[in-house]
Amino acid sequence: MTPPAPRFVRTPFFRRPAGRMTGRVRLTFDDGPHPAHTPAVLDRLEQFDVRATFFVLGNRVPAAADVVRRIHGTRHAVGNHTFTHPRPRWFGFRSAMDELAGCQRAVAEVIGVEPTVFRPPLGRWTLPLRWACRRLGLTPVGWTLDSGDWRVRSDADAEQCAAELLAAVRPGDVILLHDYNPWIGLILDVLLPDLTARGLTQPDRVASA
Ligand SMILES: [Zn+2]
Repeated sequence: MTPPAPRFVRTPFFRRPAGRMTGRVRLTFDDGPHPAHTPAVLDRLEQFDVRATFFVLGNRVPAAADVVRRIHGTRHAVGNHTFTHPRPRWFGFRSAMDELAGCQRAVAEVIGVEPTVFRPPLGRWTLPLRWACRRLGLTPVGWTLDSGDWRVRSDADAEQCAAELLAAVRPGDVILLHDYNPWIGLILDVLLPDLTARGLTQPDRVASA
């Protein structure tokens, strides 16, 4: 009998080899901060002494400023994920710079330092985004394993998503998750104990990947 096809987890067509990575897994959370779900993530990361990178949207920062301060204060990294999460195809150089610089400002107003890493919306690069990223001195960060957590709609989905991640994960992977997802806590409740037991979690601040 063949196992059921994965419903959630996807790896890129060209999976990057571990390279200079430490052999541990890097957790990244996009599209926050969320006033309730991001703290649920931080609680679980603290419980397992794991560090992660949070790629925040600048326009969500003011409503969750305390959350961003907590991310930074507990030695996680705050990354830039644009100001409004625009669809990359539809904007040019000026808009790209406004989006990236707007997020830099929003974060700096709250924690006093600007992000040093950037991930484009949907992971899609365009020429204007690359230009703005370089102009601002940001390091681009992708992922090697997409959790597909945005498709999760139930507790059972969350558990399956986590199980698929655990079956697919390899040392050196950069995992894409979303802290704006109501089920993210449940996913981490399955994911973190197993990753920790396998010695794959990342205890240091993640500045780039
Ligand atoms: Zn995103």
